[in-house]
Amino acid sequence: MVWIKQTAIVMTMSEKDDNKEIFSGEPCIWYAFCPMKRFVEQGLLDKKWIRKYCFGDQSQCVRKKLEDEGKYHPDNMLPDGSIDERLR
Ligand code: SF4
Repeated sequence: MVWIKQTAIVMTMSEKDDNKEIFSGEPCIWYAFCPMKRFVEQGLLDKKWIRKYCFGDQSQCVRKKLEDEGKYHPDNMLPDGSIDERLR
């Protein structure tokens, strides 16, 4: 019983951690204009994307690579290169 309670607390803390603002440091140079920023602000996209890529390892972002190369990519392309049809 004690183990179950502890597990529940850990899960709760983990979920809470996913949603807290950890946006510190320098964002990607495209951040101000990136649709990912808008989607997160509109509550359409989980903040984890911003945290992981825009304020994290921008070198792994497919959107940034295409943006830097001046190549077309749709607004609903996520930083990992997948398309989210829910986003418009
Ligand atoms: S999604 Fe990619 S291109 Fe857009 S701001 Fe974040 S790191 Fe930059």
